[in-house]
Amino acid sequence: MPLFRRAAVIGIGLIGSSLARAMRRGRLVAHIAGSDRSARVRDAARDLGFLDSVHADPIDAVAGADLVVLCTPVGALAELGAAIGPHLAPGAVLSDVGSVKQAVIRDLGPHVPEGVHFVPAHPVAGTEHSGPEAGFAELFDGRWCILTPPPGTDPEAVAKVAALWRGCGSQIEEMDAAHHDAVLAITSHLPHLIAYTIVGTATDLEEATQREVIKFSAGGFRDFTRIAASDPVMWRDVFLNNREAVLEMLGRFTEDLTALQRAIRWGEGDKLEELFTRTRAIRRGIIEAKQA
Ligand code: NAP
Repeated sequence: MPLFRRAAVIGIGLIGSSLARAMRRGRLVAHIAGSDRSARVRDAARDLGFLDSVHADPIDAVAGADLVVLCTPVGALAELGAAIGPHLAPGAVLSDVGSVKQAVIRDLGPHVPEGVHFVPAHPVAGTEHSGPEAGFAELFDGRWCILTPPPGTDPEAVAKVAALWRGCGSQIEEMDAAHHDAVLAITSHLPHLIAYTIVGTATDLEEATQREVIKFSAGGFRDFTRIAASDPVMWRDVFLNNREAVLEMLGRFTEDLTALQRAIRWGEGDKLEELFTRTRAIRRGIIEAKQA
């Protein structure tokens, strides 16, 4: 028995198309409708064949759906919520995949009609690629999906969304939206900001040095370029919508960086070695947790 009769996936890029593929792989939904504002993306989705129906207007996709998952950049959610809100079927579950959660609840919450269950979610899985061609059914296998249901959310709706993501291969964790935003600020948002900064600094160097940056990138630089190749619109929206938590973590990071700068200046090798030994252990922990 499928978990849902009709799912509507709005925004069918990397995450939306991967979700549709994973739902199909697990036979979790009887009919998967998709909608995207971009005609190019809709055509690609038709060609790739991971949807049962493709719609230009999200209102047509959500009509009669008992599950709606918004997979656009988070900056688009307020407007999208206002457009589809009045067309959501009573009893339907509304969810999203946004990388920040407090802002999503702030923006979508007011558009959720009485009788519709809102269960925000964030699959902690992704790549630096965008668009429906980049998606694949295995993206969520073994990765965490964090649910941040606001207080008072129907537990049955939360359980159904958890079952959906488990069916897509994920492990589930439930937490408060503010806690999610703080945790993701350090584990995801700050690393992206640092990568964007390093690659940006390198591109500002004089041309001769820039050429060498590419040539000798295997020394470490190239690992940052992968992260810094991530979608510009998605990441713009993440920083604008998780401002407080990112600024807090950035403040701590800057202090630690200054301490390292000082250790290098004064030749305090023991301090450097002590830190690098601690950080190596973190890497081992990630490998043991099968999140590498
Ligand atoms: P993506 O590949 O760029 O896909 C987003 C799609 O949404 C694009 O096709 C875009 O069309 C479409 N779109 C934008 N505004 C829309 C609107 N108002 N109505 C309908 N469609 C609209 O991005 P993604 O990586 O899948 O990210 C989508 C969401 O997943 C974001 O909220 C992000 O925070 C979250 N997320 C991403 C990752 C990751 O690693 N990428 C991981 C976890 C969660 P256009 O091309 O025309 O803009």
